[in-house]
Formats: sequence, C-alpha cells, structure tokens
Amino acid sequence: MYNFTKITASIGPKSSDRKTIYDMVVAGADVFRINFSHDTGRVQGAKIDLIRDVATELGKPIGIIVDLQGPKHRIGDFETDEKYPLKVGQKFTFDDVDKPGNSKRVYLPDNDVLKSLHVGDRILLNDGKIEMTVESVAAHKVVATVVRGDQIWSRRGFNLPDTDVATPILTPKDRDDLEYAITKKPDYVAISFVQRASDIAVVREFIASRTTHPIKIIAKIERPNAVERIDEIVSAADGIMIARGDLAVEVPFEEVPAISRKIIRVCRTMNKPVIMATQMMATMVDAEFPTRAEISDVANAAYLRADSTMTSEETTIGVNPVNVIDKMARILSYSDSDTIANPYDWSRVDNTPQNDWSRSVSSMAYLNHAVAIIVFARDAESAIQISCRKPDIPIIAVCNDVVVANQLCLCRGISSIYDEQLYGMRDGFNSARRFGIHTGKLVIVDEDKISLRTLD
Ligand code: PEP
Repeated sequence: MYNFTKITASIGPKSSDRKTIYDMVVAGADVFRINFSHDTGRVQGAKIDLIRDVATELGKPIGIIVDLQGPKHRIGDFETDEKYPLKVGQKFTFDDVDKPGNSKRVYLPDNDVLKSLHVGDRILLNDGKIEMTVESVAAHKVVATVVRGDQIWSRRGFNLPDTDVATPILTPKDRDDLEYAITKKPDYVAISFVQRASDIAVVREFIASRTTHPIKIIAKIERPNAVERIDEIVSAADGIMIARGDLAVEVPFEEVPAISRKIIRVCRTMNKPVIMATQMMATMVDAEFPTRAEISDVANAAYLRADSTMTSEETTIGVNPVNVIDKMARILSYSDSDTIANPYDWSRVDNTPQNDWSRSVSSMAYLNHAVAIIVFARDAESAIQISCRKPDIPIIAVCNDVVVANQLCLCRGISSIYDEQLYGMRDGFNSARRFGIHTGKLVIVDEDKISLRTLD
C-alpha cells in the first residue's frame, strides 16, 4: 500500500536515539519535528545530525522541522511551592512587580501582555482550567474576576483568546534557538502563536539575513486571531500546522474540526502543505493501541486530504514511539486507499486561474488512467502544486537538490528522490521503477513540458 498522507513524528526523550529514529523511518515517519520548547538549541542540534545520518544510511530523504517555542505566556513564581485555589467570583491581580505571588496577585514577566489587555478580555490559565475576565486595567496592573476556578501555581502558562498581543513573534530564546538552528540547516522552521502575516515576514527576514539556505516557514495556527486572518497567513507562509492543542484552549473546542477543515481548504487553494497536529494517538503515551476515536481522527485527516498527520507526546515521551508510527501508518495506508467516493473532495476549490496548470496535470493523469506522475523538480513549487490537486496516484519527484527532496517529504502523495543522474537524464521510467511501478501510463512533468508515456 502507498502512503499518501505523510507522518510527522515529534521526537523527545523517548525517541532521540539513533535506533529509534531509524526504526521510526522504517515504520513510516517522513518528517521529524524537533520541539525547541524543551531544551536549548544546542541539545536539539544533535538530533538533527542523527536524522541526517539515518537518511544517508537509508538513502531516503527525510524532512526536519525545527519548532520554536514562540511567545508562550507564563505567570511568575509564587511564595511557596503549594497550589493556590482560585474560587469563582474572586478578584485576582496580574502586575509588573517582580515579587513572588500569593492568593491575590502574581507577577507577569512579559510587560507587553499587561499593555495589550482590555476590559472584558478572557485570561485562560492551565490549559483553560481557570477562566478569568479582565475587570480593570491600570498602568502597572490588571484586575480580573475568576469565572471558572481551579488551582494555580508557579510558572503556569496562560492563553489570551480575545487579545491581539503586542509581544514580538521571536522571543530572546527563539532568536538564540533560531540563530543556532540555522547553522544545522533544517528544512522547515515552525513558528508558534502566529497572529498575522507580518510575523512570518519577521522570521523570514531573520533567516535571510543569516543564511542563503532555503528554509521554509510553517505557521502554527493556534490563536483565534490567526484563524480570522487565515488567508493572509497561509499566503505568507510556506506551510501550516493546525496546532489543535493550544487552538482548542483558545477557541470553543467544538469549533476545532470546522476550523481544521477550513484551514485545509485554504491551504489547498493556495498550494501550501498542511499538518494536522496534536493528540492524534495520545492514549499511546501508555497504551499499545489507539482508541477507536483516535483511529477515526487519523483516518479523517486522510479523508480531509491533509498533507501530514503529526504525533506529539505519544512519540516524545510514550512507551513505544515506533509502535505509534507503525499503527498510524496502518490507519493512513488503509484510509488513503479507500475507494468510496470521498465526500470531502472539494475539487471546485482548486478552480482558480493560478491552479490551471496543476489541474491540467492531474486531469491528464485521471483521464488517461495514469499510474503515477513523475515530476523533475528543480525547486519544490511545481510538485507542491500538483500535490495540492490531491491526485489519487503517486507523485514521484526527482530532485537534483537534496533540500528540495527533504522538503517534499511533507507533501501529500509525493515520494521524492534525490538523484542527480536520474534528474540529469530526465529518466522518468527508471524513476517509476525505483518505486516498484513497472507498467502503465505515466504523466511526466519536466518544467513546463507535460507528456504522457507508457511504461511496459
Ligand atoms: C499545539 O499546541 O497543538 C502544538 C503543536 O504546539 P506545542 O506542542 O508546541 O504546544
């Protein structure tokens, strides 16, 4: 079976050794995500070296995403290590006084947050377990009323779903991490808590001023204001991650599936790959099998024509990361080859003039019952465009640049190979044979030339 939907595997303490990385690739991982929220860049850099080493041994392109922590907001410390209960109706103050907190107040280390809040804005603490509403705003403090109570303690994260926060997209930690990550030449950098297209421009400029290496940028959609500005963000980014963890805290949880569908649709129209992320197989942190609901969630990502699913804790701290990838690959292979007409096939959304060329390629393949599309890919863009038409046959991208081959690992239906010889000879037949395709019609795309050839 051919995996159309790709697997992005997050790696962490339980999966950063060479053998586990190797076994995860063999089980079906196409891309690795290294989360810079944990540890410093230098510790994470060793993982990039290991992945590149495994890719060389297997002779297989593998994509690498460096995921920056971004401006995740946290409260300051408390006077003791205890948990402080917050009750519905009580007032609580956030201020800029750098002193340990108590049951009435706490320090907010990020001054931009205090300045961005308005009366009526919600403050969600501890993954939304605590909800407060801002009652008053003064120069150095904000007073909020608790609407949903729970316990609070030092350094808890918080979300501000109603607030356009003025914090710069790259924190000092992100700048350090990115400065270092760039030297390791990752294929993608993912930016957390994107709010607007200009956030992507900032990161692009930061990278361009330091390297000519063509790193692509993924915007993580996890804030309501990013959902509102989805068109401008998708247009500015090279790819999107639907970061459902924080998203489901910041928007009413029942909206997450509809928002995900909308994002996939916009990405498809604008020719950008999209990753469905978070809690896809979360019970496999401890369990050997996913739940029925998780199986359906993974299958649904394939039916929705996402480019990639993603694992999180299940492969970073879970009991058996290789087993998670194996199970995810099984679900995706089966769902991808499901022949029942796909209710989510929005072919009409592609109907824009900029997609004419790639629609011709995929229509030609469809009308001629082709078995594969072979693309000689000098850069990633033409192959990505064809992938975004979601043809149900393999797209084989022959690349003369290893970076392009790695970046295409994220894109639905594409198998990329880095082979200067095949590329130079424009050898479509041998490229198909490499992937076990020995007979049938091939659509061959060589820059602006599209041809139909028969392999027998
Ligand atoms: C998420 O919130 O879903 C996500 C992918 O981001 P992170 O794991 O960095 O919090």
